Amino acid sequence: MTRLVILGAGTAGTMLANAVAKHHPTWSMTVVDADDQHVYQPGLLFLPFRGRPDRLVRSRKAQLNPRVDYVNSPITAIHPDQKRVDLGVGIIIDYELLVIATGSHPRPDLVEGLTDERIWRRRAHEFYSLEGAIALQRTLRTFSEGKLLVHIAEMPIKCPVAPLEFALLAEDHYRKRRLRHKVDITFATPLDGAFTRPVAKQTLGDLLVDRSIRVTTDVAVERIDPASQRLVAYDGRELPFDLLVTIPPHTGARVLEGTGLVDDVGFVRVDPHTLRSVVDPSVFAVGDATNVPTSKAGSVAHFQVEHLLENLAAVAEGREPTARFDGHANCFVESGRGQALLLDFSYDVEPLPGTYPLPGVGPMSLLKPTRLNHLGKLAFEPIYWNMLLPGRPLPVPTTLTLTGKRPVTGKD
Ligand SMILES: Cc1cc2nc3c(=O)[nH]c(=O)nc-3n(C[C@H](O)[C@H](O)[C@H](O)COP(=O)(O)OP(=O)(O)OC[C@H]3O[C@@H](n4cnc5c(N)ncnc54)[C@H](O)[C@@H]3O)c2cc1C
Repeated sequence: MTRLVILGAGTAGTMLANAVAKHHPTWSMTVVDADDQHVYQPGLLFLPFRGRPDRLVRSRKAQLNPRVDYVNSPITAIHPDQKRVDLGVGIIIDYELLVIATGSHPRPDLVEGLTDERIWRRRAHEFYSLEGAIALQRTLRTFSEGKLLVHIAEMPIKCPVAPLEFALLAEDHYRKRRLRHKVDITFATPLDGAFTRPVAKQTLGDLLVDRSIRVTTDVAVERIDPASQRLVAYDGRELPFDLLVTIPPHTGARVLEGTGLVDDVGFVRVDPHTLRSVVDPSVFAVGDATNVPTSKAGSVAHFQVEHLLENLAAVAEGREPTARFDGHANCFVESGRGQALLLDFSYDVEPLPGTYPLPGVGPMSLLKPTRLNHLGKLAFEPIYWNMLLPGRPLPVPTTLTLTGKRPVTGKD
């Protein structure tokens, strides 16, 4: 009987545990997470503008198949050489196969001056945590005039389009309140454009310019000066703000430090296709915890799980893992005015225009703001709780397909 331990019961850990419980009921499986609060993270984008925080949170245990042995405890140490994990509640668990699904974590403490009490959660905010999004909602209620600076500290971050979406929603928020002329919005990024891949970079960049959002590129933040309310970049540029909404640098879970499994920023070094650790054949990783070169997104975790399930079964039977994840990601990009764009891409294929999932029919449009895409984004929440997490089949391919996509020529 295979003894599997899954670290983390967020999006990826929960989906994987439910899939294993369904397909391998004879395996012994333990899932560990520090708390019992599963947050629907895509909802954190909207929370600063509207909504109640409690509606985004459900019990972790309740999202898991009753066959799953769930332990609610911090993980305090991982010993790959002894195939052992230590938990804060004094329990030690052994494994034959370990899956690390401990996510990625915003670290405001890594930017000098950001968490200074004169500005933190008053004039300087993030919305990637529940507390952060709640605090920003409070500030936005009264912020009606001045310089709004939306900023990404460095890549990779989870959901790399969310800061762009925030800028576009803020534009819409102030336009609807007839205050847009009083709020000056700048989007500052460490990248050389609004997004990483050429076609999407152009489309999303044009959208920001269309909405009179200033885009400042190649910004490597050195520090935040709380006294003068300025972001200071390494190249000497200074960006003033009355309200800073920043996405702090992300790292992997701190418990992974010193295990020999991770890269410099704490993400598990895996083969990008099999998701197996490149240093320990008993260890796999899934979701945001990996160092694979695609977006850190719930959709990615969903597409990875199917391949990972096959690879875990192969290893449990003494075979080599051969299922290959292709970097498939898709993300809705909320663009304000009740519309959204959809991006669909992989390691090898950049986001392209066209229709999704059916060629010519859609009903979703790729790289084009539409009302239907916006409704798709809203529908993602019930789909997440009722289909994605429990592992019910969805009518979307797990590997990227070029069907319905239009390669971009110089004339587009
Ligand atoms: C604002 C925002 C908007 C987003 N929008 C979208 C979107 O529209 N579409 C999309 O696909 N994705 C979106 N995402 C990204 C998506 O939410 C994440 O990619 C996804 O949740 C990753 O799942 P995960 O399981 O890898 O990590 P998580 O869901 O973060 O889970 C990691 C788990 O590990 C646990 N853990 C870590 N360390 C320890 C420890 N030492 N002890 C015990 N437990 C530990 C944590 O408690 C946590 O539950 C968004 C994210 C944000 C923040």
